[in-house]
Amino acid sequence: MMSGDIQGRVQELSDELHDHIYRYHVLNDPIITDDEYDRLFRELQDLEAEHPEYALPDSPTQRVGSDLSGDFPKVRHPAPILSLSNAFDEDDLVNWEERNRRLLAEDAKLQYVLQPKLDGLAIVISYEGGVLTRAATRGNGEFGDDVSANVRTIRSAPLRIPVNSDKGAPPSRLVVRGEILFHKEDFLALNREQEAQGLPAYVNARNTASGSLKQKDSRETSKRKLTAYIYAIVDSEGVELDSEWETLQYLRDMGFKVISDAAYCQDLDDVRRRLDAWEARRDDLPYEIDGLVLKVDSLPQARELGVVGKDPRGAIAYKFPAEEATTKLVGITIGVGRTGKVTPTAQLEPVFIGGVTVSNASLHNYEQVAALDIRQGDRVIVKRSGDVIPYVIGPVAGARDGSESAINPPECCPFCETKLAQPAGAVDWFCPNPKCPERVMRTLEFFVSRGAMDIEGMGPQTIAALIENGLIDDEADIFYLTAEPLLALEGFAKKKVENLLASIEAAKSRPFEQTLTSLGIDGIGSTVAGLITENFSSVQDLMDSAGAIEATEKAFSETLQGLLDDERGSGAEVEKLAFRLRHPLTELAPRYLDAADLPLRLARLLKPLAISEAELAAIAVSLSRLIAASKPLHSIDGLGPVLVENIVEWFTDEHKKRVLAKMLEAGVNMRAEEKAVAGSGLAGKTFVLTGAMSAPRGEIKALVEAHGGKVTGSVSKKTSYVVAGDSPGSKVDKAVKNKVPVISEADFRALISG
Ligand SMILES: [Zn+2]
Repeated sequence: MMSGDIQGRVQELSDELHDHIYRYHVLNDPIITDDEYDRLFRELQDLEAEHPEYALPDSPTQRVGSDLSGDFPKVRHPAPILSLSNAFDEDDLVNWEERNRRLLAEDAKLQYVLQPKLDGLAIVISYEGGVLTRAATRGNGEFGDDVSANVRTIRSAPLRIPVNSDKGAPPSRLVVRGEILFHKEDFLALNREQEAQGLPAYVNARNTASGSLKQKDSRETSKRKLTAYIYAIVDSEGVELDSEWETLQYLRDMGFKVISDAAYCQDLDDVRRRLDAWEARRDDLPYEIDGLVLKVDSLPQARELGVVGKDPRGAIAYKFPAEEATTKLVGITIGVGRTGKVTPTAQLEPVFIGGVTVSNASLHNYEQVAALDIRQGDRVIVKRSGDVIPYVIGPVAGARDGSESAINPPECCPFCETKLAQPAGAVDWFCPNPKCPERVMRTLEFFVSRGAMDIEGMGPQTIAALIENGLIDDEADIFYLTAEPLLALEGFAKKKVENLLASIEAAKSRPFEQTLTSLGIDGIGSTVAGLITENFSSVQDLMDSAGAIEATEKAFSETLQGLLDDERGSGAEVEKLAFRLRHPLTELAPRYLDAADLPLRLARLLKPLAISEAELAAIAVSLSRLIAASKPLHSIDGLGPVLVENIVEWFTDEHKKRVLAKMLEAGVNMRAEEKAVAGSGLAGKTFVLTGAMSAPRGEIKALVEAHGGKVTGSVSKKTSYVVAGDSPGSKVDKAVKNKVPVISEADFRALISG
C-alpha cells in the first residue's frame, strides 16, 4: 500500500469503528457481528503498529487500555460538581417547589424534567475541540481522581464528539457529567465469569463499578463491561441551550448514551402522578436506581434559583423507600447444594424492607462471613433489591453487647455426617459424599427442572416420595419407573401416574445440549452446554475425551516422579512451579495449546528446577500428549480451564459414569442433531445486505450461510456481492467505489438456485 492509502485506510477504519461502537453501545443496534468488529479492529491495530505516525489521537484502539498509568493525579473540576438535596415523600417535593416560587417572579411557570437517579459512580468528562481530553471522578466535588485512561476503555463514552459527523462541528469545549455503572445483566455476567473461574462473586454492583474504574492498569478496566450515561453539562464554550430537556437532546446528538426514560412534566402535579409508576418499574430497568432526579427545566430559572451550600436549588433527588434495613441475626441454617457446596443462610428477626418482610438472607459463604466479621446475635444490615435474594451487607459493630459469638463452618455435613472439605484455593466448603441425601435430592430437583430435563409433575415432594420408597436413587432411575409401583404410592392416582410417565418419556428426546445442562456439571449452564455440543456430537465423544485427558494427566504426573523433591530447590518461585506442574490441565495445557516450540518454552519455565535434558524431553513428550488430548475442549471459545477440569472430573467419575450408562441404556438422547446444509454453492463468497427485502435480514443471512457463504456488515474490496433491497443505504455507493457487484434480491435467489 502507498503511504497515502495507508493513512486513508487508518482514517476509514477509525471512522467505521467509531460508528459501530456507537451503534452497539449507545443505540443498542449493531449492524455487524462481534467477529467482524474484531476483524476491523485488528486491521487498524496492525496498521497503527506498523505506521504509528498515522495513528489518530482518538483512535478506537485507545480503548484497549495501557499499563502506563500508575496512580491517579488529582484534577480540579472546571465548576463545582454539586450534590442534590433529598426528598423522601411528595410533601417534600411540594415544599421544595414552594420555596423556589418565593425566589422567582410571581407568574413564573415551572416545568420539570424527571429522570431516574442512577446508582453508579459520578464522572466528569472533558472534551476539547470534540476530543476526549480528561475524565475524572467526582472526588470531593472540587477535585477528583484523573481516571482518563480507564474511562477511555468504556465504549459508551465517546472518544470524540459528535460521534456522527452529520451533527455538525464539535463544541470548542464541553465538560459533561454522568454516571458509570454496570447494567444488571453485565454484572450478572461478570459474576458468572467469576464463578466459572472458581473466584468469589462480587456482591455490590456499585462498589464493583467503582473498583473497576479505579484499577491501576486500564487493561483491567477494559475487561469489565461498564456503561457511561451522561446527563448534564458542567461547563461549555460554544454551546447555547435554554433548558434541561434541550440539554438531554443535545447530549444525545453528540453521541452520548443518555437515559431514554426521562420525562418532560408540565407541572409538579404531572410529576407526582408519575412517581408510583416509576417505583413499580424500578426492577424492570436495566440498571440499578435509588430514586428519581427532578430538575427545573428552564436553565435561566435554575440559574436564578442558584445554589445553597453544595446543592443547586433547581434540582432535587426523590428517594425511593430504603432497600436496606437493620435487624438481628438470630441463627444460621446450612444448605448443601447438588455439587456439595455448603451455604450458610442468616435467620433474621423479621424486618420490612422495600415493601416485603424478610426473615432470612444470604451470607454467601463462610469466608465472606469471616471477612465481614459477622457474628451470631449481631445487628446486621440487610439489603434487598429486585428479585435478588436478600443478603447481609455487614454487621453494625457498634451495637454489640458482648453476647455475640463467631460463626464457623460446621465440621461435618448436617445431612450425612461426612467431614466437610475445602478444596485448595476455594472459598466454599463442600460435602464430598456423592450419595449425601441432600445432594441427591438437589441433583434430582435440578435434573427435572425447567430448562433442564423439564419433567412435568415431578416436584420436590414427588422426588422425596420416590426416594423414600426406594424407587429412585439417582437421575437415571427416573427413566425406569413403571406404573405399578407408582400406583401403590399414597396420592398417586391413575391419571397422575400416566401424566408423569408421559412427561418422562418425552424427556428422553430432549436436545443434546439440554440433556448436558441437566447433568448439573459445575459451571455448565445452557450457554456453555451449547458451546460444547457444537464441538462434540455425542456424550460418548465427551467421555472418550475426558478419559484420554485423565490418562495423559496421570502419565504426566508419573513423569514428574522425583522432580518436585526438596533437593531441587525451594522458595516461592519453585513452589509456584510445583503448583503448575501438579495442575497441568489448568495451568500448563491451555498456555501451550499452540506452542510450536514446546521443549524450548518448557526449558525456560522449568529453569529454576535444575532438571536434566532427558527429564525435560520426557516432560515435553508427556505434556504434548496431554495437550493433544485436551485440545478439543481447551480450544472451545468461552470454555475456561476450570470448566474443562469440571467436565473431565464429571465424566471420569465412576458413579456419574454408571448413571450416564443407565440413561443411555434407557434411550435418553445424548447426541447432537446433524446440521442441515443446503449446499455449498456460495462457499468462499462474502455478501453484504442492504435495504428492505422480502424476508427478515436474519433469514436471508441464514440462507447465505446454509449455502456455505458469509454475510458481513461493511463493504470492502473483499466483498463478493452487495445485495440491494428496497431503498438501499450508502453501502451501494461504497460497493460502486470498490468495484463490488451490486445485485438485486431476485439475482441473489437465482444465484442460490444455481
Ligand atoms: Zn452430606
